[in-house]
Amino acid sequence: MTAGKAPTATFASVIPRTGIGIDVHAYAPRDAPQPLWLGGLFWDGEPGLAGHSDGDPVAHAAADALFSACGIGDLGTHFGTDRPEYAGASGVTLLAEAARIVRAGGFEIGNIAVQFVANRPKFGPRREESQRVLSSAAGAPVSVSATTSDRLGFTGRGEGISAVATALVYPAVPAAPHPAAPQASG
Ligand SMILES: [Zn+2]
Repeated sequence: MTAGKAPTATFASVIPRTGIGIDVHAYAPRDAPQPLWLGGLFWDGEPGLAGHSDGDPVAHAAADALFSACGIGDLGTHFGTDRPEYAGASGVTLLAEAARIVRAGGFEIGNIAVQFVANRPKFGPRREESQRVLSSAAGAPVSVSATTSDRLGFTGRGEGISAVATALVYPAVPAAPHPAAPQASG
């Protein structure tokens, strides 16, 4: 082996992992309306979704995809009844905590892509804002797109919003051991 092949070997040892997450929330009943939180943003005047938290399917799907990519369970595993402090947490908070858990588990985040399916709200004008908020929470690029289901299914009938996310993570490369290094101090 020549010295020139070393970088190839280094890259080969870092294999990225993909993950997927799906989240769905129904609209809150008319007699118990909720504010709409979607893509980490508050949507004034829009009908809101039901949920134990802010019901943000975009943020939840993103967090779920992170856990999926690392193979460490799902939203229920990490934010279930045994962690009541997250019972009413915002989607952005959950995404930030998911990213922290993933990094504590030895992974770095490449990116997260989310697409949600809904008749409304009109997302394009606030896409950049949403991506900024979610990317800041995850500490990695999060892209968000929106589509409709051509009036078919529960999203087409306006009964709820679904979101699907993919995430790419990779093992964080540990610092090369240095036999001559003294014990860490400070
Ligand atoms: Zn959710």
